[in-house]
Amino acid sequence: MILIDGKKAAAELRQELKEEVSELKKKYNQVPGLTVILIGDLTPSQIYVRNKEKSAIEVGLKSDVIRYPDSVEEKTVLGKIEELNKDNSVSGILVQLPLPKHIDKQKVIEAIDPAKDVDGFHPMNVGNLSSGYESSIPCTPLGCYLLIKKIEPNLNGKKAVVVGRSNLNGKPMTQLLLKENCTVTITHSKTKDLKAECLEGDIIVAAVGIPELVKGDWVKKDAIVIDVGINKTEKGIVGDVAFDEVSKVAKALTPVPGGVGPMTIACLLKNTIDCFKRSQKN
Ligand code: NAD
Repeated sequence: MILIDGKKAAAELRQELKEEVSELKKKYNQVPGLTVILIGDLTPSQIYVRNKEKSAIEVGLKSDVIRYPDSVEEKTVLGKIEELNKDNSVSGILVQLPLPKHIDKQKVIEAIDPAKDVDGFHPMNVGNLSSGYESSIPCTPLGCYLLIKKIEPNLNGKKAVVVGRSNLNGKPMTQLLLKENCTVTITHSKTKDLKAECLEGDIIVAAVGIPELVKGDWVKKDAIVIDVGINKTEKGIVGDVAFDEVSKVAKALTPVPGGVGPMTIACLLKNTIDCFKRSQKN
């Protein structure tokens, strides 16, 4: 079984991006810039943002974090986004989720210029992805896609099963696999026989949030299995896939932690650079 090493893949991607940033700097005398807006003091968000900032600086991006207290008014945040939309030194804008209840998440997402939407959550980018046009792609499914392609470069005609239909993971993952000519089944909490659906998959991507939901006897021999889940349990952090069982049947499997997770931030940096390159073209 191939243990898909997300840490190594992410380090390789960051190295490629670092070289690309240095080329861009020579060509345009400017580096891509990522600005993150962080509202409140939720510990996980603070940690994510710190890691994003550290990685951005490592690959040579200009990185800024704008911090607001929990009590910030929605109009202040929208005003700041408008300002960043117009700022040529900012290639990508990310508003760290979740937001305090009094701030309308959708309004905030839609305020970001789609050309700077490095999370790929703006409806324009969602539409472009599903239409097969160029767009920012949500970072976690993009990371999964890159890991799958490393194992199997030609996905033509493969059967893929995506477990979970969230806007963040399941839906964009489905679009990426469709684009690669997979036959995709998207499953969710109301799916009648999840085991039978999973058994059809040459590729399974699980993004559910239920510890070890996907069992060994749900997986076809030699399937590629990507585990997006991050679940805190008594035995520590586990994924949505029963690792010990599934590793006995799968051809390749991502561990949790150390699989999909590290790719997410690397893909955020990639999206920032891609936004910069598109802005230079236009
Ligand atoms: P979500 O809660 O938004 O969506 C979960 C999906 O799972 C829903 O579509 C729901 O229909 C489906 N589902 C729920 N119960 C099910 C069941 N019994 N059978 C089949 N489907 C079921 O979750 P999300 O934001 O997509 O996150 C999913 C998991 O991925 C979480 O554990 C989250 O922590 C993790 N995550 C990891 C990363 C990363 O970088 N690795 C990034 C984002 C999310």
